[in-house]
Amino acid sequence: MSFKKFCPKCGKETEQFVENICLDCFLKKKELFEVEKPKFFLCKYCLKLLFKNKWVDFNDESIAKEIALNVNIIKELKQPKIFIELEKKSRLDYKALIQVRGLLSKTLVEREKEINFQLRETTCDSCMKLNASYREAILQLRAKSEKDSFEMLQLTKNLLKKEMLKDSLSGTSNIIKTKNGFDLWIGSKKAASKVSRELARIYNVKIIVSKKLIGEEKSGERKYRHTFCIKIL
Ligand SMILES: [Zn+2]
Ligand SMILES: [Zn+2]
Repeated sequence: MSFKKFCPKCGKETEQFVENICLDCFLKKKELFEVEKPKFFLCKYCLKLLFKNKWVDFNDESIAKEIALNVNIIKELKQPKIFIELEKKSRLDYKALIQVRGLLSKTLVEREKEINFQLRETTCDSCMKLNASYREAILQLRAKSEKDSFEMLQLTKNLLKKEMLKDSLSGTSNIIKTKNGFDLWIGSKKAASKVSRELARIYNVKIIVSKKLIGEEKSGERKYRHTFCIKIL
């Protein structure tokens, strides 16, 4: 024979105990989880999001990941799972519905909370450099006619935009109109080199590369600024 068990708090007969009280009493007494309000920083220039000290693509997934890291679940809940639904209320305002599910005394329980938060605008390091005319390389576009050079510029900007998804420093810090085209100051030498190779392929021309000594590292290594010239005539 088995003894009947009663909750010492409400007197109910039950088999489901958590911390010596019945499941209902436990759930009345304790919250399953707490959420710390997350802080989000968004670069207003490249729209990347600061996540664990890294600038990442800004999307719902990266926001949800960060919120999940700020959810603290009580240790009594076994096999906890977190579900997050995001609602964008305005450009910078969000609402998140956070659901936590898990097992308490072998019973599936679920609770939800809603939080509102705001993205804060800032400037990432790369965009800060670009705003200060930083350049690792110069991409020169040269064409016979004004029309051709503008088309070339547009194409180059589109190619750079793709590179910016990977590295914000691939943007331009200055675009200078010259007699036969444009000079683009580019934050990343790697991006400038890649885009000039793509342009050379599209226009079926050779890249003219030159470099200028701009200084010396403490290690004695010489620093150069590369210029990639694409000339269509
Ligand atoms: Zn009870
Ligand atoms: Zn940025």
